[in-house]
Amino acid sequence: MTALRPEIAETQSDGDAPDADRQGPGLVGLHESIATLLASRGQWRQAYQHLRSALDLVHADQDEEPHVPEQLRREVDRLRREHAEAREQSLRDSLTDSYNRRYLDQRLMDLLAEHGACRHGLAIALIDLDWFKQVNDSFGHLLGDRVLQRVVELLQDGLPEGAFCARYGGEEFVLVLPRVDAATAVEIAEAARERVERHPWQEIADGLRVTVSAGLAYEPPADEAPERPAVSAEQQLLRADSLLYTAKQSGRNAVAYRADGRVRLAGAAAGRRAITETRVLGYY
Ligand code: GH3
Ligand code: MG
Ligand code: MG
Repeated sequence: MTALRPEIAETQSDGDAPDADRQGPGLVGLHESIATLLASRGQWRQAYQHLRSALDLVHADQDEEPHVPEQLRREVDRLRREHAEAREQSLRDSLTDSYNRRYLDQRLMDLLAEHGACRHGLAIALIDLDWFKQVNDSFGHLLGDRVLQRVVELLQDGLPEGAFCARYGGEEFVLVLPRVDAATAVEIAEAARERVERHPWQEIADGLRVTVSAGLAYEPPADEAPERPAVSAEQQLLRADSLLYTAKQSGRNAVAYRADGRVRLAGAAAGRRAITETRVLGYY
């Protein structure tokens, strides 16, 4: 902002008017203009700082109830709103409107950091559409996009408070389930799988059928397994990926998870033979 200093100096030394009258409105206007310029470039933080400076100048000029020009007030409100919207958008996937990978990485890191000090389990399910390439090949990419959007709606439907769905990439999604026990996590993931299987897909296109497979990694409450080393988000995702591989190998349309040291399949698939994981890393 050094380049602006001459302009400020000019405003301040202009004419005989008292300093307060001259400096205030001139600088306020300048800050406003800069803020508008920065906002139009998407530099929300800096724009906000300029509007704050403008407000501070207005406040400093008043002894008691400061009069904030209505236009400035509206500008600040608008910037705040746009800033919040821009932030929300930067965390969403544009096709499905689910959270994106950036949000997932941030939240998972936070949740795992909290997890060490909390009395609840944390589950993540990595979910992959089955034979999705064939859906694209048979029905076209646009319909494939619609399927992804609908799958997200179905996955998100009825998730408990605090849980969320994020697009991991391509046709893979992650359900993050904080503060759950192991059995509830399996129930939630299996219910999500079932919702996708039972959806009337033929209403979208004749002959369309969509299923998903999931790998569910569960981290027990820290006080239940105090000797268990802390896991990173990356490890947790690798575990889920390894279980997803098992679900695929067992015939797809299934949720694979670990219980009592063994890999199992949830619900209707429980009778199938669960093929042992082959890509397990750092399992406890
Ligand atoms: P599997 O059951 O083993 O997962 O088989 P698959 O066909 O689902 O897996 P594969 O990895 O062979 O294919 C994934 C397909 O997902 C290929 C890719 O074009 C498609 N895909 C990824 N992202 C999108 C997207 O945003 N829109 C559409 N329409 N298709 C996508
Ligand atoms: Mg995939
Ligand atoms: Mg797939």
